Amino acid sequence: MSETPASARSGAPATRAAQVRPATEGWTQKKDAEGRPLLQFASPKRGKPPVHLADLTPPERIEKVKELGLPGFRAKQLATHYFTHYTSDPAHMTDLPAGQRDELVAGMLPPLLTEVRRLETDRGDTIKFLWRLHDGALVESVLMRYPGRITLCVSSQAGCGMNCPFCATGQAGLTRNMSTAEIVEQIVRANRLITEGGLGGKKADDHSMERVSNIVFMGMGEPLANYKRVMDAVRVMVAPQPEGLGMSARGITVSTVGLVPAINKLADEDIPVTFALSLHAPDDQLRDELIPVNSRWKVDEALDAARRYFEKTGRRVSIEYALIKDMNDHPWRADLLAEKLNARGRGWVHVNPIPLNPTPGSIWTASDKDVQDEFVRRLNDAGIPTTLRDTRGKEIDGACGQLVATTEDEAAAAAMA
Ligand code: SF4
Repeated sequence: MSETPASARSGAPATRAAQVRPATEGWTQKKDAEGRPLLQFASPKRGKPPVHLADLTPPERIEKVKELGLPGFRAKQLATHYFTHYTSDPAHMTDLPAGQRDELVAGMLPPLLTEVRRLETDRGDTIKFLWRLHDGALVESVLMRYPGRITLCVSSQAGCGMNCPFCATGQAGLTRNMSTAEIVEQIVRANRLITEGGLGGKKADDHSMERVSNIVFMGMGEPLANYKRVMDAVRVMVAPQPEGLGMSARGITVSTVGLVPAINKLADEDIPVTFALSLHAPDDQLRDELIPVNSRWKVDEALDAARRYFEKTGRRVSIEYALIKDMNDHPWRADLLAEKLNARGRGWVHVNPIPLNPTPGSIWTASDKDVQDEFVRRLNDAGIPTTLRDTRGKEIDGACGQLVATTEDEAAAAAMA
């Protein structure tokens, strides 16, 4: 479906004529038989990661411990070590019988993530981790301290099958889905680091116990393409300690480029996570090129599903919108976005425009400041709460859509293997 700019419909002159079209830079997008960008929904078959306590429900943990020849109550002790002390080190588990500790830990808490590289900002309040999984696949997470909260941006897949032309992660396609425990372990490792005082920016007079308070599924991968494991991971995050991490569902943001059936499924779960739709364009003409999955589910279908999420959960939905110079930042697009959101009711949504980094010579570059401001103003004036998002992680190349292992990272991982 092609969209008519609001300015053209109203007869008003377009304030900006330039239209940069999405295109890959320095790599070629894989295409399907019809010549459209290839979409990969199914995870390639690879050796599964070892089963870990965080993959199992509490009754399954008890069974597994019994299989290892120990009484079932040891499962809870192990869960306490893992989910409240963030440790997988048998030496710390003095309440377990010394003779069986190593075997129990090897069977229930096998190593899942090997740290390959860590980058941090000068203040140390933003840290990017590069992890190697058991089969050599690389994923990243980014830990960020904000006033009053600590957010971890987690990966849900190694690589991604959604093939967005601006995104480094999608270039190599989908390597595989991450397991539930691989997703959870990113949080446990971050909490371990925080407990050890490794996250900077804490005030000298603040002696509170800290841990990750917010999760955003905006690292590598399309979370709703790995639905079951992501939702199982969310269940572990919100389960009360010691059976889980005891986090608030509201602090967990699940984002998607618009897998409509999965959005509907998410709305029917009884877990009121925050839902974010990465829209980036309000018109199908542009979005078909910018977000290839739009060829499957159109803007209106994705927005209808987002609205349904609000109706079912009462949780206000976020619309993510990366502002890209002369590509999607036109005033008429702000108006069209407002029109489409308002057509679905009031008070159900807010928009987070995301300023890109200025990248000289690239078509994927930041909108001018006045254009950003105008975009935000138009949405706010139309009654849509809109706030420019903080993209601090970009300082270390760790912001969403940029998470990819560089050649250097690959070399570091190979050296450790
Ligand atoms: S932007 Fe998101 S959905 Fe698109 S390829 Fe990158 S990680 Fe996948």
